[in-house]
Amino acid sequence: TMTRTRQDWEQLASRLQFPHQAFIDGRYVDAASGASFECRSPIDGRLLTRVAECGTEDVDRAVAAARRAFEDGRWSGTRPAHRKRVLVKLARLVQDHAEELALLETLDMGKPIGDALEVDMAASVRCLAWTGEAIDKVYGEVAPTGQDELGLVTREPLGVVAAIVPWNFPLLMAVWKLAPALAMGNSVVLKPSEKSPLTALRLAALAIEAGIPEGVLNVLPGFGKTAGEPLALHMDVDGLVFTGSTAVGKHLLACAGRSNMKRTYLECGGKSPNIVFADAPDLERAAQAAASGIFYNQGEVCTAASRLLVERSIKDEFVALVARFGERMQPRHPLDPEAPMGALVDEAQTARVLDYIGKGRAEGARLVIGGERLQTVAGGCYVAPTIFDEVAHGSTIAREEIFGPVLSVIAFDTEEEALRIANDTDYGLAAGLFTRDISRAHRVARKLRAGSVWVNYWDGGDMTAPFGGYKQSGNGRDKSLHAFDKYTEIKATWINL
Ligand code: NAD
Repeated sequence: TMTRTRQDWEQLASRLQFPHQAFIDGRYVDAASGASFECRSPIDGRLLTRVAECGTEDVDRAVAAARRAFEDGRWSGTRPAHRKRVLVKLARLVQDHAEELALLETLDMGKPIGDALEVDMAASVRCLAWTGEAIDKVYGEVAPTGQDELGLVTREPLGVVAAIVPWNFPLLMAVWKLAPALAMGNSVVLKPSEKSPLTALRLAALAIEAGIPEGVLNVLPGFGKTAGEPLALHMDVDGLVFTGSTAVGKHLLACAGRSNMKRTYLECGGKSPNIVFADAPDLERAAQAAASGIFYNQGEVCTAASRLLVERSIKDEFVALVARFGERMQPRHPLDPEAPMGALVDEAQTARVLDYIGKGRAEGARLVIGGERLQTVAGGCYVAPTIFDEVAHGSTIAREEIFGPVLSVIAFDTEEEALRIANDTDYGLAAGLFTRDISRAHRVARKLRAGSVWVNYWDGGDMTAPFGGYKQSGNGRDKSLHAFDKYTEIKATWINL
């Protein structure tokens, strides 16, 4: 497929239909209020479509539809083998529509088309297929009482699950939630980000085609305050799963506490340290990993390698290497199949990133490359890959999540100092280290307070392993069989023999 040229993609884009209505109880509908909001492409600022702006009334209708579906058992009451066939079919439908979905994603949020197709769509297909295949292999337990009593430990679906997701991997983040939620028999109300609603809306029709019954999956485009918050406060939502910023995640925990104590699981932000020791096995490869670790997806990645900690003896040499790889990752038109970087998601995010770059300068860090907005495509949102050296550990750009292509380099002298700096953060999503000393690799990996640790590369992962955060990067885990924990209650049934 990647033999397609930019012209091919532009031609496909000119014929593309944009989903623009909410999806409630198996049908595309306008918002009850009739309101809609603009969906613009950050590639060039063009208006793609207007999208239904859901509010409280739509939330109530979607939750009621999800509840009805859950109670009558049209999905929750089916055999796991049936749900498996449906989810695997949905995986195939996403695969069959991968080009269309990738194009929607790229136009909606600006990532390179190659990444949308080869990463976002491929990983979404794999998540749906892997989770589908797993459904009928999850067994219950029998408690080891050793007496004439039988303790059955079984998993039951929560009921109605609300999922609120971000814009950086719009379809994939939605699928990470809805695949295990549906697998376990729940009904779902999904709220995509207002910055990137299109692929989740398109997925709803594919879900119906795959055989997911009406009302079991509802998609409500809209804003956080007016569509997300009514879900978080809803008395008839049993579970709330979220990927997004730490600030909103904390607010959602409070909403759950104020309402019905709905099970609430969060995947939040990060400020991940990447530690490069002087004995790294291959400095070129480490530098390449450091560059793509921060510049991939325009730096809009929760696990972005945003803090580069380098042992002082190799620091200058290493930063020069990272800068060389960074320079090669300049943004291009996102429909260019070779684009290493595309557009940031919107003007607001671009302004936020440029503001952090200004703070980096003001706080005395040394700008190595980048530091400016680019006119890659007129009217679009492009920022050059940016590296700051000599960043003070306590400064703003070293502490706050920028969510853009901005790398902060900090030098260290000893392993203890590297660990202290690495762990001195409210976040704990990911961390990495480069060394050829196997004892040090294990020692440091164990002491890093993060949910994912990479040794001698960055951003490895697969459906077979859980993903999530320590500390204020969240609770609960996506992916792998551990994900099912978030979507089930565990029941103990005692039978007196
Ligand atoms: P965000 O927190 O601003 O928004 C996320 C979602 O929450 C959106 O759908 C938004 O509409 C909704 N929302 C906002 N305010 C709300 C409110 N008051 N009530 C209910 N819902 C509300 O985050 P974002 O800007 O979309 O995404 C960027 C953030 O997501 C970054 O912090 C990033 O690290 C994080 N992220 C984390 C992971 C992970 O797996 N840990 C993955 C991707 C992104």
